Amino acid sequence: MLAEPPLAAAPVERPDAQTAKAGSPGPDDEPLYRSSPKIYPQRVQGTFRRIKWIVLCVTLGIYYLLPFVRWDRGANAPSQAVLVDFPGRRFYFFFIEIWPQEVYYLTGLLIIAAMALFLMNALAGRVWCGYLCPQTVWTDLFFSVERWTEGDRRERMQRDAAPWTTDTLVRKGLKHFIWLMIAWWTGGAWVLYFADAPSLVYDLATFQAPFIAYAWIGILTFTTYTLAGHMREQVCVYMCPWPRIQAALTDEYALNVTYRLDRGEPRGSVKKAAALRAKGLPAGDCIDCLQCVNVCPTGVDIRGGANLGCIQCGLCIDACDAIMAKIGRPTRLIAYDTEVNIRRRAEGQSPVFRLVRVRTLLYLGIISIAGGIMLYTLATRQTLGVSVLHDRNPIFVQMSDGGVRNGYTMRVLNKKPEPRELSLRVSGLSGAEVEVIGGSSHPGEGLAIDVGPDQTRELRVLVTRHGRAQTSVQSIDFAVSDRRGGETATASDHFRGP
Ligand code: SF4
Ligand code: SF4
Repeated sequence: MLAEPPLAAAPVERPDAQTAKAGSPGPDDEPLYRSSPKIYPQRVQGTFRRIKWIVLCVTLGIYYLLPFVRWDRGANAPSQAVLVDFPGRRFYFFFIEIWPQEVYYLTGLLIIAAMALFLMNALAGRVWCGYLCPQTVWTDLFFSVERWTEGDRRERMQRDAAPWTTDTLVRKGLKHFIWLMIAWWTGGAWVLYFADAPSLVYDLATFQAPFIAYAWIGILTFTTYTLAGHMREQVCVYMCPWPRIQAALTDEYALNVTYRLDRGEPRGSVKKAAALRAKGLPAGDCIDCLQCVNVCPTGVDIRGGANLGCIQCGLCIDACDAIMAKIGRPTRLIAYDTEVNIRRRAEGQSPVFRLVRVRTLLYLGIISIAGGIMLYTLATRQTLGVSVLHDRNPIFVQMSDGGVRNGYTMRVLNKKPEPRELSLRVSGLSGAEVEVIGGSSHPGEGLAIDVGPDQTRELRVLVTRHGRAQTSVQSIDFAVSDRRGGETATASDHFRGP
């Protein structure tokens, strides 16, 4: 028996599917607000379900375990592979170390992420939503806990319709407890990205961690439990902006989960279809069993056509394939297909799949350019930096011998995890006398500056010109060089006089 029992919850109704029945209330009598019916997705097995399990395990595994992965950066740097170090103002990602002034790397990453999303959309619609989106992944995990504690669709629906019993109380209590544990661990894993994970776990367990860590765990526990446990498909249908943006970006060659109208209609029971075929009349493969709707996490009936609620997870394909196998009809009555192919099949033409198109090449090109620039800048990245700021007040000081002195604030960055001995040379002002407050002088080697590992040092530099100048403003260059390596960083400013 394949048909759904009478308790079956109605799928999310699409406005265009609503038809007025004789004697039924008209649109003016409808309440202004109607709650969404609760969706009870049924367990399903098949290719796409397996892919979703793999993606779920990989993504959650990375999220929960990555903070514990170590990366050796030397004695003076943290050993956590991925770390957002707010006190040290650094972001560490394996061999990459980003300083605050290098935030443009983040811009590059955002460009790549956006283009990757657009590319996924151009190839296979909302494939991100169906497989990779955190909302989908955590909701899937929460669904599996719900099935484990309360049973599959029919059992859950019967339980919800029946009066409360001790068994219901225990099962629902257990479900919410496990949900809260997952949500709590999700929040806990999040804060581990902002401090040394093993030490923070110890501090959290012994209540010695800072208050902000507990606060963030509380916030993320609440949001995960609410969004994945209670709001589920409503986040995708009502809250997320991506379905609207995606609908505007897609084209007729993008693969989307599609019901093969040409094969499925006219739908009817197995017996009816067999009788029609025996008479040589057209009969569709769809037996109207609603299994595709029952497994859908958003309650969509994909047979009605493209739907904003469909997250392209492919579970209805698995459900329908199982039915087709049972009734001895070819599988993929529901399949990833394109708008073009729907049209072509209706016209009796064979389907075409065009993954290489202008837009996919464009997105790939932008990803390659942004990625290439980032890789190049990372590979040629300097570990030494210098910036110079001229004093604003006074702009210059007139000396008693007629000379003029300018003051500068110089910042030297050492991005290496070891201390460095640097020398400063000032050029562009012949005969000028340079003094670094806090530095020392080495004859013939310029002015020496020591900077600690992975540090920025701020120094005062005084430049004095003796004698009269031709012009009141002259360019002046500052060069800071590593005394052992060959790396040099430069900065320019002006020397001003009367
Ligand atoms: S499309 Fe497939 S799963 Fe859906 S109602 Fe028809 S036969 Fe059943
Ligand atoms: S209609 Fe099919 S692909 Fe779309 S959300 Fe439902 S089960 Fe997933």
